Amino acid sequence: MVNYMLMITADLENIANLQPQGGCDDPSFPYFFKVKCGRCGELSQKETCVILNETYPLPAGKGTTNLVQKCKFCGREGTVSMVPGKGKLLTQEISDAGEYAPLMMFDCRGYEPDGFVFSGVWKAESAAGTKYEDIDLSGGEFAEYDEKGECPVMISNLRSKFEVVK
Ligand SMILES: [Zn+2]
Repeated sequence: MVNYMLMITADLENIANLQPQGGCDDPSFPYFFKVKCGRCGELSQKETCVILNETYPLPAGKGTTNLVQKCKFCGREGTVSMVPGKGKLLTQEISDAGEYAPLMMFDCRGYEPDGFVFSGVWKAESAAGTKYEDIDLSGGEFAEYDEKGECPVMISNLRSKFEVVK
């Protein structure tokens, strides 16, 4: 098994922080990404979706997982289990430093995650303290005018990566 941390960042203009609507451990937040088979190296055609509150019994042994999927190419079965409690807010400081914030950890067996897609519903707070909810980042950006701060706010240039956690 290998643990992968999903790391995200974005350009934040007058935005203090960004996170999923229900926080980093939002039980119904959908994570969409592709999986690469650890045996044959085939990358799945479509993104798969894992959600913290959707669990399935592990194919072998006891316990539950968030995804059981067979590689379409070689038939090997792999699992992806979410490990909550590791995420942090993406703050302006992190963004300005050109760094990434951890969002969610995935315990992957037989698969390597690849190509996270920003889906689901997000929330953000402006530098002036205005709260924004129901943000849709699937179009790649969010832009508003902040009355309180009397300035434009914007989230753009979304980037993500999966890092192996040792
Ligand atoms: Zn395979």
